[in-house]
Amino acid sequence: MPTLNPDVSACIGAGICTNTAPSVFDLDTNGLVLLKTETVDPADVAAVDSAIAICPAQALRWANRD
Ligand code: SF4
Repeated sequence: MPTLNPDVSACIGAGICTNTAPSVFDLDTNGLVLLKTETVDPADVAAVDSAIAICPAQALRWANRD
C-alpha cells in the first residue's frame, strides 16, 4: 500500500492538502499537516499526487507509491 513521508518541519499550514485529499490529510492543533492514515487507499493516490504538486512548501512526498 502507498505510504507518505511528509516533512512536517517544512509545512507552513496552508491547508491545501486537507482540501485536496481530506481523507488522507488533517491539520494538528498547531495547524501543521497530520496524516489521518498510515497507508493511502489506492482510490486516494491521484488526490495525493495533486496535493504533493500544489503544496506551497513542498512538504509532501511519497515514501512508497506502490
Ligand atoms: S499543503 Fe503543504 S504547507 Fe499546506 S498544510 Fe499541507 S503540507 Fe502543509
